[in-house]
Amino acid sequence: MSDDDRQEDCIFCRIVAGEVPSEKVYEDETVYAFKDANPKAAVHVLIVPRRHYASVAELAKADPDTLAHIVQVAQQIADQDFHGAYRLIFNTGEDAGQSVFHVHAHVLTGQVLPE
Ligand code: C5P
Repeated sequence: MSDDDRQEDCIFCRIVAGEVPSEKVYEDETVYAFKDANPKAAVHVLIVPRRHYASVAELAKADPDTLAHIVQVAQQIADQDFHGAYRLIFNTGEDAGQSVFHVHAHVLTGQVLPE
């Protein structure tokens, strides 16, 4: 990946680059998935594009194929871990709870989820 694709002070760019440890669940050329360090469900995985985009809106505009791919990877994880049932969350904006500004899908699965 070129230096243009990452942001130097971004924790998820550093995780994707292997500079910060993470528990990998899945990876391919475009995305990287790892266990959330502070899980909110029996299975709580974050899926991120390797390339840095600040938000899901930015990703949707610049690279909709990768956004669709993230949904497919989420489905794959849930198929493995909980008969295909999952919750997919993209917190977008500080007031909605986004704390890391490298787009990430929260995949919550592995249990019956509360409403
Ligand atoms: O949607 P939000 O931006 O708040 O989510 C960030 C998520 O990244 C949190 O659930 C947090 O636990 C996770 N995280 C992580 N490993 C880090 C930093 C944050 O799993 N090193």
